[in-house]
Amino acid sequence: MKYKLLVLFVLAQLSLFSQNVRIDRVEPPSWWAGMENPNLQLMIHGKDISSLEPGIIYPGITVGEITRVENPDYLFVNLTFGKEVVSGSFNIVLKDADKNVASYEYKILEREEGSAERKGFDKTDVVYLIMPDRFANGDPSNDDMPGMLEKADRNNPDGRHGGDIKGISSHLDYIADLGVSAIWMNPLLENNNPEYSYHGYAITDFYNVDARFGTNEDYVNLVKSSHEKGLKVIMDMIFNHASVYNWLIEDLPSEDWIHQFPEYTRSNFRGSAIMDTHASDYDREKFLTGWFDHHMADLNQKNKLFANYLIQNSVWWIEYSGIDGIRIDTQPYSYKEFLTEWSSRVFQEYPEFNVVGEAWQQKESITAYFQKDAPNRDGYNSGIPSVTDFPMYFAMSKAFNERDGWTEGLAQIYYVLAQDFLYAAPEENLIFCDNHDLDRIYSSLGENFSKWKMAMATLMTMRGIPMIYYGTEILMTGNAGDGHGFIRKDFPGGWPDDKTDAFTKEGRSKQQNEAFGFLQNLLEWRKSNGAVHFGELKHFVPADDVYVYFRHKDENCIMVALNNSSNAVRALDTDKFKECLKKFNYAVNVITGETINYIDAFSLPPKSVLVLEFGK
Ligand code: CA
Repeated sequence: MKYKLLVLFVLAQLSLFSQNVRIDRVEPPSWWAGMENPNLQLMIHGKDISSLEPGIIYPGITVGEITRVENPDYLFVNLTFGKEVVSGSFNIVLKDADKNVASYEYKILEREEGSAERKGFDKTDVVYLIMPDRFANGDPSNDDMPGMLEKADRNNPDGRHGGDIKGISSHLDYIADLGVSAIWMNPLLENNNPEYSYHGYAITDFYNVDARFGTNEDYVNLVKSSHEKGLKVIMDMIFNHASVYNWLIEDLPSEDWIHQFPEYTRSNFRGSAIMDTHASDYDREKFLTGWFDHHMADLNQKNKLFANYLIQNSVWWIEYSGIDGIRIDTQPYSYKEFLTEWSSRVFQEYPEFNVVGEAWQQKESITAYFQKDAPNRDGYNSGIPSVTDFPMYFAMSKAFNERDGWTEGLAQIYYVLAQDFLYAAPEENLIFCDNHDLDRIYSSLGENFSKWKMAMATLMTMRGIPMIYYGTEILMTGNAGDGHGFIRKDFPGGWPDDKTDAFTKEGRSKQQNEAFGFLQNLLEWRKSNGAVHFGELKHFVPADDVYVYFRHKDENCIMVALNNSSNAVRALDTDKFKECLKKFNYAVNVITGETINYIDAFSLPPKSVLVLEFGK
């Protein structure tokens, strides 16, 4: 028996030497000298390498703890960077006894000037959301790529249509001309899944752009050229789940990197379980650990190595690509302690950066819980400055369809704003009328152009950071109930064989040009309007189908008046608004450009919006 063990041992040793020991990945794939946080956790991957001893020699870098996990294909090496570290490269060597059996060149890069001081997106911005697969196909040669499982099929609403980074970069002038100042793209990282891979939310590689969208370098160049056009870039990141085909999930470092169940267990999607003082452990666990969908493994950020991996991945992309912000997918679904750690590490490196968390919750109070500095009873602080304002979305997508009542119609918007005391900073909320998961606003409003104008004018003048979903400016339609593919249709003109090109004035219908112009005018005006960016909001209880709110800052004051009646003209006596208007004696109609010298009374046509900017 002993002899047998000895033979096995010798054979095992022999096999180690006979096979080619190889490091096939190190992540993060590079790092920088001069980061605020001196620590770096390297994840080294290679077949059966864990019994080997890693060695790194570089001036100023100290090798600390080395961690081995269940899976013999991994080594985790902690490094500490001294202040004296400069850019360069070193070899990560793996030793068996004193013999080097593998080596991997690792680069320490120099940071770009001003990288740490970058200013994130803010209240002066308007965000344009693009689904990259569906916006424009700038390079048909990358529609199908070797090694990528799903092939393009434009006839399949749930298939890949071929949109890419080049398609976006070649339409930056269109986006800038519309007047928005930031773009958020749904995830561009590799989604090498056999089907339904176009949306980007089932990542298979955290460090590489999907080859069908382009390369990492293409992404960096897109950020650069966006900046040249005055457009900030927001990257979409997901910490809650990853594709079951992610190489890391297929070769788990240890079983506890993901939440696993004897049979498929779905999240209950109830974010309320996080702060509900009556919540059962059962519901809270199910919300946090249940899977989002069959092909998306639920990640366990309680595993310290994985948490560190995800945080470093975010910092790597910020530093590498030059982005101006991050949108966190499914924020409440990750462990809340992890998110606090994540945000503190991100803001440690980039104090002026900005992040918006997707908190898709029904209620103001539940949404508010997830924002930085929220006045939470349990003391929880996510550290995430902006949250997606779903309660405002629900109100704006319904208000203009309803007859006004105590809580219906415009009162929906009124009551959302009346609850702003629940938020630490409601003016930092991302506000929107639709997105890639929701009915398109023009469809929600029954394709009624007057209601659409009311919604857009409200969105552009409301507190918060407005976001427009691509195609809203040309009245694109679609209902989520028909399938997600129908709210993510191809932008007309984005494909070489498209019959119409809505990127050009000539390619748009008369009504589409009117819609584009309506938004463009508001966006241009909003760019320099301090009252809309930073002003206080004061509103008056809706009455007789009319709702009025003001935004004011210093000498700058605007009034928004909405008439929600579908047939009655309403007279607006401004005497009621004395507290806001006493200083002013004329106004400019922001939508028509007309100057109005008599501001004591206005007439509001049915289903209309009036935006006035006052002057003395
Ligand atoms: Ca393409």
